[in-house]
Amino acid sequence: MSTSTEFQFTDYQPYDFANRRHIGPSPDEMTEMLKVVGYPSLDALIDATVPPSIRLKTPMVWGAPMTEREALDRLRETANKNQALVSLIGQGYYGTITPPVIQRNILENPAWYTAYTPYQPEISQGRLEALLNYQTMVCDLTGLDVANASLLDEATAAAEAMAMAERVSKSKAKSFFVDAACHPQTIAVIKTRAAPLGWNVVIGNPFTDLDPVDVFGAIFQYPGTYGHLNDFSGLIARLHQTGAIAVMAADPLALLLLKSPGEMGADIAIGSTQRFGVPVGYGGPHAAYMAVKDAHKRSMPGRLVGVSVDARGNRAYRLSLQTREQHIRREKATSNICTAQVLLAVMASMYAVFHGPKGLKAIAQQVHQKAVILASGLEKLGYTVEPETFFDTITVEVGHMQGLVMRAAVAEGVNLRKVGETKVGISVDERTRPATLEAVWRAFGGNFKVTEFAPGYRLPQDLLRRSDYLTHPIFHMNRAESEMTRYIRRLSDRDLALDRAMIPLGSCTMKLNATAEMLPITWPEFSDIHPFAPAEQALGYKEMIDDLSEKLCAVTGYDAISMQPNSGAQGEYAGLLTIRNYHLARGDTHRNVCLIPTSAHGTNPASAQMAGMVVVPVKAMDNGDIDMDDFRAKAQQHSANLSCCMITYPSTHGVFEETVREVCDITHQHGGQVYLDGANMNAMVGVSRPGDIGSDVSHLNLHKTFCIPHGGGGPGMGPIGVKAHLTPYLPGHPETDGKSGAVSAAPYGSASILPISWSYCLMMGGEGLTQATKVAILNANYIAARLKGAYDVLYKSKAGRVAHECIIDTRPLNDSAGISVDDIAKRLIDCGFHAPTMSWPVAGTLMIEPTESETKAEIDRFCSAMLAIREEVRDVEEGRADKLNNPLKNAPHTVEDLVGEWDRPYTREQACFPPGAFRVDKYWSPVNRVDNVFGDRNLICTCPPVEAYAEAAE
Ligand SMILES: *Cc1c(COP(=O)(O)O)cnc(C)c1O
Repeated sequence: MSTSTEFQFTDYQPYDFANRRHIGPSPDEMTEMLKVVGYPSLDALIDATVPPSIRLKTPMVWGAPMTEREALDRLRETANKNQALVSLIGQGYYGTITPPVIQRNILENPAWYTAYTPYQPEISQGRLEALLNYQTMVCDLTGLDVANASLLDEATAAAEAMAMAERVSKSKAKSFFVDAACHPQTIAVIKTRAAPLGWNVVIGNPFTDLDPVDVFGAIFQYPGTYGHLNDFSGLIARLHQTGAIAVMAADPLALLLLKSPGEMGADIAIGSTQRFGVPVGYGGPHAAYMAVKDAHKRSMPGRLVGVSVDARGNRAYRLSLQTREQHIRREKATSNICTAQVLLAVMASMYAVFHGPKGLKAIAQQVHQKAVILASGLEKLGYTVEPETFFDTITVEVGHMQGLVMRAAVAEGVNLRKVGETKVGISVDERTRPATLEAVWRAFGGNFKVTEFAPGYRLPQDLLRRSDYLTHPIFHMNRAESEMTRYIRRLSDRDLALDRAMIPLGSCTMKLNATAEMLPITWPEFSDIHPFAPAEQALGYKEMIDDLSEKLCAVTGYDAISMQPNSGAQGEYAGLLTIRNYHLARGDTHRNVCLIPTSAHGTNPASAQMAGMVVVPVKAMDNGDIDMDDFRAKAQQHSANLSCCMITYPSTHGVFEETVREVCDITHQHGGQVYLDGANMNAMVGVSRPGDIGSDVSHLNLHKTFCIPHGGGGPGMGPIGVKAHLTPYLPGHPETDGKSGAVSAAPYGSASILPISWSYCLMMGGEGLTQATKVAILNANYIAARLKGAYDVLYKSKAGRVAHECIIDTRPLNDSAGISVDDIAKRLIDCGFHAPTMSWPVAGTLMIEPTESETKAEIDRFCSAMLAIREEVRDVEEGRADKLNNPLKNAPHTVEDLVGEWDRPYTREQACFPPGAFRVDKYWSPVNRVDNVFGDRNLICTCPPVEAYAEAAE
């Protein structure tokens, strides 16, 4: 053994140590940053920032943090407990082939999955184009005029359609008719939505049980959940006679072969685009769609991408009609939907771009062909197959042999659907192989080869599709993969996502989505499990959900978690329904008042309204805190009818309010429950727990605090935690406990992205999570300190500290130089940054949240950009720069500004390379400033016609 003194063991931790992967600043950098903030240690800063009254006394411990390898091994072990059998269950979830070019270049590509919601259109042109393709695809297939850029799932889309029907219907009726052939989960979610709003849900056979006079609208499933194909034209015409609204839930793959909802006269079509290349993933995420007649576009929920122009008159995309959204309309909003399913909508649209109309039609025909062959074999065996005509789904009468057949199928590696007590449902799909059909026959006692059957079709003649679709050139590109790869690359290059720069969005917590966390989501053991597969085939999912729930309970101080809500806003809605059901169970049917501070996120009042509550706003004081006098007075005034209060902690102003316990106490004294919006948990994990402070229920945004990427506006997960007394009132689901109250189509929401949050927790450990919170607070306070003097930080605690975000006030610059918050946001694009949250919670301000994952270097780059922008404003203030023709007003600049005439009073160098901007790796905005007003006045929400391309090219 050598005893050389030259060799020494290092105590340096290699990268694969939780605190270095997720935590931006190195220990040395933290020391420097603390100096700037003015504290000797991180703990001293935290002590000064987080009020002692809410501090967590005992640290969270749940074993040592795991390395990436250890965590992935654990995930692998867990995944192996899932059995991904071939699913022919159908019921809204179908096998599909994700084209590898889409899986690798979109689903697994941070340029796509780490992007934010496209509120800043200039840096979002790529995903906006992909979403416009999606909207065009949906409009074409449904035969309707306007489609939104996705909803959460088919069942919630159906509930949204019902609510929309009630808004636009001319009928005064208070009932909604639901086709009994709708998927059971759709019916369940519709019932949940209708109850608090006082609407009656009538379920039945539309051809015998629907009386249009009695209803404000009706929904029909096409094809029906058991495979039936009906022409609803006659019924729809009758509904229209009484002013009622017709909704169709339609399968987009079937629509390639069948007469569209629009051609039948439907007002609204909804459905899931899952089978356009998005794996079932134990229930999600996938994009639901909604399309409506032009007359109803302003009442449609969800985001709508539209076409506008930029400052040069070039075509530019943007979100249209945003005034419909909860951010502005609050309790009068059309819906609470915020995070949707953008990444999955992008995948589905690319699937259509990739295959084109001919390829899609061929896929649909092949699916139908397989179903016909399957039926023929079963008939040859003497079984009665229903219905006579069908697309992909058949139902077989098996009498007392139901269990036998289903078990035999499982033994063959195939899941079938249990229908009633004597029938079996079978849905085939793009992935169904001849061997699978033969296996199904064996389960029914037959021994055939697929080749024994002649091809044929069994679609109803009068429902065959005769209209065109996907005629736009974008769906007709050369089918070589080079083209597709480059198209995907070109679009992603137009966007600014986390893979290029920090996205300092207040309240939205755009933190690292670590690669190791992302890997498991495409493992077939997670992605290929049908949400209604037998429980014993999903033991891995159960283990993960149980352990993650336990950890989230430890984080929040709650007793139980429901994983059902698939977005933050859905979590709010689910939590408020839980409170509502608690009061109802105690006979307090009158308790329906919800106190919400005026500073709350727009989803809060929108969700409260959906839960049938009366929103009573509570004032905020000048310092942003809840006005306690007003709170006390309102609680007193509404004492008898108080259902709950809805608060956000730390507040939307980025401050740990000292009065939070008092707010909870007052609410409880008046018999109310406390809903604490947990979207800001990134400032609390390991430091303070909602359950300890006195809150009864919260949602957590796993796509903020727990590392699920934003995907450009979804997916997300918004599980709720509750105290024990609320546990009995959590959402049920028809496919698990059979209880009412489902809020999502799938029992565990978008379950297939839970491995991300789980592996984050495993790799961080309780200690690492706590450290992340502390560093998030340090980073925010560091920015506040660096920008001091240049900008005013609006809200601080008594100790002069902010929590995990800080709001800077740009209104004085508007007064002194006419520079708006918009100008600053757009100038940041020139510097290579996504703007912070703009004008929320206070108009004319920027809310900055750096998160723990940003390094000191990146934060410094951001601060130097902000400081340089302040100097540019000073140039205007002091007359050195023109008031209207300056780099701020003309931002963002594009490569177009480097060529041709230049008559501006500042240089091209100044225009394009301000401090913060990289020279070699410069991010170029693809468009100059987008004209919002033009886009809303000239609403175009599908791909513009070819001539428009020719014009733009001129
Ligand atoms: C993000 C957010 C929500 C809504 O979450 P979604 O997942 O977008 O529906 C609600 N409240 C606050 C404070 C938020 O920041």
